[in-house]
Order: sequence, then structure tokens, then C-alpha cells
Amino acid sequence: MVLIKLVNICYDYPDTCGLNALNLTIDAGEFVCLMGPNGSGKSTLLRLLSGLASPTSGTYWLHDQAITADYLANAQQRQRLHQQIGMVFQNTDVQLFNTSVAAEVAFGPRQLGLSAATIKQRVDDCLALTDCGDLADRVPYQLSGGEKKRVALASVLVLNPEILLLDEPLNGLTIAAQQHMLTLLQRLQVAGKTIIMASHNYQQVQTVGERFIIFNPTHQVDADLTRTALAQQPARQAQLMTL
Ligand code: ADP
Ligand code: MG
Repeated sequence: MVLIKLVNICYDYPDTCGLNALNLTIDAGEFVCLMGPNGSGKSTLLRLLSGLASPTSGTYWLHDQAITADYLANAQQRQRLHQQIGMVFQNTDVQLFNTSVAAEVAFGPRQLGLSAATIKQRVDDCLALTDCGDLADRVPYQLSGGEKKRVALASVLVLNPEILLLDEPLNGLTIAAQQHMLTLLQRLQVAGKTIIMASHNYQQVQTVGERFIIFNPTHQVDADLTRTALAQQPARQAQLMTL
């Protein structure tokens, strides 16, 4: 089932191009890695998908809905998108702002006006799912990098989005914390989530990604390969190792 369809998407920043004529289809349940050198457009694409920005031209379809600037100008529709698509930001410190982990994860459902019992259930479930149960009373900004990332993930999962966007979620984490995060993401994929993750580090993501969309320095898709296809292209793999 097609979830996301991008048709001829361009995104221009005031002084520079962010994405150039992007055509892409993503099916429900995929685990997609966005790759490519620094500045190639990975974060820009995640910002568009999450509704934080609208394309300069072209159309973004989610299911059968065009996600346009007009669509996003409506607060209810914007909220609906944010329930469908959750984003874990590259810089966790801009995402976490509550005084306890439990409050952090409860924030989204509170905004939706859910009942206290429902919120508690959801928060407990998501803390358990992300192995954050022991952190509930801790102050988010005092946590380790890996713990912060898992709390950010919990705070996104609590709205039960069908799509998870993650921008360089392994950056700055210890090897053990990277492995922990990848295991969680695989678990979430098995649970039915569609996962779209930006990473410039092929070594870190090669075992989990099932599809690799590789951007070039001119903000176009250079290659779009399944894991199996990529495994048969040693030169391409070697190139990815040097990003
Ligand atoms: P990546 O995530 O692959 O490193 P980005 O999507 O952040 O790439 O950047 C794509 C292009 O857009 C780059 O040329 C970058 O310099 C530019 N860019 C990104 N964010 C901004 C911004 N806020 N203002 C202006 N240009 C930006
Ligand atoms: Mg980026």
C-alpha cells in the first residue's frame, strides 16, 4: 500500500536549493534510510514530510491527501498530520523541554485532551516500549545522549503515528546506545510502523535499512536501492562508507 508519494518536489531556501525534482513513493511498513553527503537534502526532506515546511513546487501526497501549505494552515489538519507522522529531531535538546520524562511523554496526549487514565496508560506503554520505564521521574536534560533519544522516541510514539521520521538518530551515541536504538526501531517496524531515517553513516545502518535512498550533492536522488541490490554494488557501498 502506497503511503507517501512525492511528485516532482523542489524545495528552495532563500539562497540555495534544498531538494531538486524529487519523485519518490514509500509503501506502508518500509524501513527506509535516507543517505548522502552533508547538505544533500536529507533533513529538508524530513522537514517536508513532517509538515514543518511545504514544497516550493511539486506535490506531497500522504495516502490520498495532498499536504499543501493550505492544508497545513488549518490547525486541525496540521494536528492530524502530526498524529500520522512523528519526528525525532537531530538535536534532542530542542525536542525535550518538560521537567520529567513522564511529563515529556505525556505532553502530546495532554494537548489532545485525552483522559488522565488513557494518558497514563499510553505513557506507561511507550516508556516500556522504549526501555525508558526506569527513567520516568528523571529530568530529561540530565540524561545521557542515548537515553534522551529514547525519551524523544517515546514522546513521538505516544501519539501512535503510522510513520516515524528520525534525523540522524545515532549521531553522538555510544556504540551500545546506537545498537539499542536500532533494535528499538526494528521492533517498531515489526509492530507495523513505517520508518524513514536520515543517516550519513552506512556502517551504522546497513544491517537495519531495507531500502537506501541516496542523495547527491545537487539535492537529487542518485540511487534508490533495496538492501539486496546495494549488497551487489561494492563500489556504491564503498562510496557510502566515505560519507
Ligand atoms: P542534509 O540533511 O543532507 O545534510 P539539508 O537538508 O540540511 O542536508 O540541506 C540541504 C541544503 O539546504 C544544503 O545546501 C543546506 O546548506 C541548505 N539548508 C539547509 N537548511 C537550511 C536553512 N535553514 N537555511 C538555508 N539553507 C539551508
Ligand atoms: Mg541533516
